[in-house]
Amino acid sequence: MSKATEDKTKQSQNKAASEPKNSSGTNADMAAQSETAEDTKKKTTEEAVKDALSKSDGSAVVDALSGATAAELKKLATKDTITKIMALDKASMDAALDMLYTYVTDVNLLISMVDARFGVPIGSAAVSDPNDISTVNMVKGWLASDGTPEQAWTLNGVQHVYATYMRLPQRDLDIIKAVLTLKTNQSSVSGAAYSQLGVYYVNYNNNKPNAKENGGHTESFARLKYGKTDSRNGLVMLDMTIAHELGHCVDASRGMLSDTPEFMAMSGWQKHPKSSPEQLFEAIVDSFNDPYPSDFSATEKDVAKKTGVEMITQRATDKAKRDAIIEKVVEDEYQEPENASSRNLLDKIFNPNSGGRNSASLIKALKKANAINHVVRGFADNSPWYSGELFSGMNRQIHEGYSWEDCWYSYKNEAWKRGKISRYQFRNPKEEFAELYGSYHVADPKGSHTPEPLKSWFESQGLDKMEGTEDKNATNVTPKQEKTTGGGGGKF
Ligand SMILES: [Zn+2]
Repeated sequence: MSKATEDKTKQSQNKAASEPKNSSGTNADMAAQSETAEDTKKKTTEEAVKDALSKSDGSAVVDALSGATAAELKKLATKDTITKIMALDKASMDAALDMLYTYVTDVNLLISMVDARFGVPIGSAAVSDPNDISTVNMVKGWLASDGTPEQAWTLNGVQHVYATYMRLPQRDLDIIKAVLTLKTNQSSVSGAAYSQLGVYYVNYNNNKPNAKENGGHTESFARLKYGKTDSRNGLVMLDMTIAHELGHCVDASRGMLSDTPEFMAMSGWQKHPKSSPEQLFEAIVDSFNDPYPSDFSATEKDVAKKTGVEMITQRATDKAKRDAIIEKVVEDEYQEPENASSRNLLDKIFNPNSGGRNSASLIKALKKANAINHVVRGFADNSPWYSGELFSGMNRQIHEGYSWEDCWYSYKNEAWKRGKISRYQFRNPKEEFAELYGSYHVADPKGSHTPEPLKSWFESQGLDKMEGTEDKNATNVTPKQEKTTGGGGGKF
């Protein structure tokens, strides 16, 4: 119950208690009383609000608003009234704005309300803190040079920002320097956070702002092999993205919680540094029950390894690049067995391990080998987390999260099978954290769309609390990396 509603309840209780005392009056008194009551009734909500505003009486404003009908609120959601409300004390202003924001039709007015209510600038033009202007402009410049300049927010978009921020802890919103948008007419919802800088953007479809998750980021309903609907399904996509991107900033402000052993253990995440392509390829080989044809000789496995390492080094993200590397390595490295060229079908059947392959058949076999093919599909370019299902024949899943990261990641199959938030959760641990943050806070009731063990961990960290960790937050809120200049700012 809001403070305003409480006050109102108290008032009507007082009124009821005082009534019997007057009941001994004359008929004339009674008539006068009832006339007075009618007069009070005739004072419209609009008048009551304006009256209270003229006296800067915040609690009276909130009181009047909380008894208003939707039609009355709609009438009151004007620039003039709301500007006066924004001059009230913070508690009254917050309560009054929360009652009015859905009726506002002027996007710039709504933007100023989000700033007053949550301290978050929507769009770079709304940034007023001199300490933040250069940071936001730097990000704006990167985006423009990428060919995706900042665009103006639409009313629908800002309505969703307001609604979502009401569900998020203020200490987290305090991290944000600006929220931008680059596209308001795209078919789906997307976003990215410059998490160390406290800046992020969200792109959406202005015609379908309420669209719910139904298989875009999640496992499609038709293919629920493990019988678990992804818990992100049913949540509003735009709200999820507004919260997800902030989740990255929260992760960064707390020193990368997603990189701690405790977090990584839940889905069995492991890192496989790109600085050692040999070890990375070995991890890929180890993740398969059958990495190669069962009759591969030691020499053939050695050629396969050289091929895989070269593919990782050269980023063979498609089959054409893969084939060129396979052919080159076999040509350079492979000494054909003496009798290889004379091998025929019968020879292969009766002497499967003798003689080895000639180079043509080795090339053919490498193109079909699980470990070699997985290098191609494991690159971030091919979004392996959107495969729709666990890759078969693998005892762990392993892939690249982002091309600019210094490692690939692997996770245990069980993490996918036990029930997940989304497929996107498994891009890397940072995305898992952001999906956890978004799904926890956006769901109603909170946490109802978040599976275990992530839900319990989130609560154990106090990330679910709306208040109460200000001190902890205050020491962490200054991003160390902010002083770092240049670079992409760690966009993800
Ligand atoms: Zn993300």
